[in-house]
Amino acid sequence: RIVTAASASPNEENVDRALRPKTLRDYVGQESVRSQLSIFIEAAKKRGEPLDHLLLFGPPGLGKTTLAHIIAHEMGVNLRQTSGPVLERPGDLAAILTNLERGDILFIDEIHRLSHVVEEILYPALEDFQIDIMIGEGPAARSIKLDLQPFTLIGATTRTGMLTSPLRARFGIINQLQFYSAEELARIVNRSAALLKVKIEPEGAAEIARRSRGTPRIANRLLRRVRDYAEVRHGGVITREIASEALALLGVDELGLDGIDQRFLRAIIEKFSGGPVGIDNLAAAVGEDGDTLEFVVEPYLIQQGFVLRTPRGRMATEAAYRHFGFEPRPAAQK
Ligand code: ADP
Repeated sequence: RIVTAASASPNEENVDRALRPKTLRDYVGQESVRSQLSIFIEAAKKRGEPLDHLLLFGPPGLGKTTLAHIIAHEMGVNLRQTSGPVLERPGDLAAILTNLERGDILFIDEIHRLSHVVEEILYPALEDFQIDIMIGEGPAARSIKLDLQPFTLIGATTRTGMLTSPLRARFGIINQLQFYSAEELARIVNRSAALLKVKIEPEGAAEIARRSRGTPRIANRLLRRVRDYAEVRHGGVITREIASEALALLGVDELGLDGIDQRFLRAIIEKFSGGPVGIDNLAAAVGEDGDTLEFVVEPYLIQQGFVLRTPRGRMATEAAYRHFGFEPRPAAQK
């Protein structure tokens, strides 16, 4: 699984960490987010205050976690990382909050999955740097207020739609990360290749970049798979031909679509006559979870113009028909 292998293996996580740029200057692309943040960071540092709470959203692998680490590095503070589903009880979050030092960054991944009771603790923490905790049980129970050190929350999510509006309202800065251009991804591939001591020709990097679904994590993942292929078959140097052969072997097509993208598009065309079809019916046809289709698979296909999202469901575009060698139906033409 190249696209949807969401949770990386421990080994991959180590590689991810090793390849992560450490400074804003090394962070490729996302120009508008980067230039905004560099101003906010500089201003906050000048005032000696923590940065405003920041929400980052966009599909997986676009660099949200990386950006949080970079911000901590640039601000010269510690980063504490956790995630929505891990924080089960209010006490879990309270324990983290009370241990933060002045200016620290708390990074909560998948923040849309915070439970309601945990979210309640977060509101006063974000607004007044205070939390209310209950001590004792039954009639003797009482609530006490604890002061926290001023800190910055960085929340990451693949879907802002699922964030409650009170939580959303507490973020001073909201940034959406965009898919990367092939040229930006080629820079990332070349940088990663240098760090991993992989020999790669510029055309080899360009080929991997072009077929990485606009996503740095996928580019790095493909680079490592192609490297294995190059080492076994061709003495280790990644050329355009070798990248192309290896990617074909991995089931990544000419446009960088992998197995699940292809099944998704083919299902709309072949099983639902091009659509419109609802995501649940598609999920059943493809044998994949609807949320994964909607928030991991589909955004790139929409961005590339293969799928249209209409009020009545998803439709395959003419480009999708042509990609699979079908004659487009009149209805599929916009
Ligand atoms: P997310 O948190 O959005 O799922 P990550 O921050 O974990 O994504 O990014 C995945 C990998 O992609 C990182 O390990 C990093 O090596 C690489 N990466 C992401 N964004 C960039 C970027 N802008 N420049 C260089 N490498 C990046």
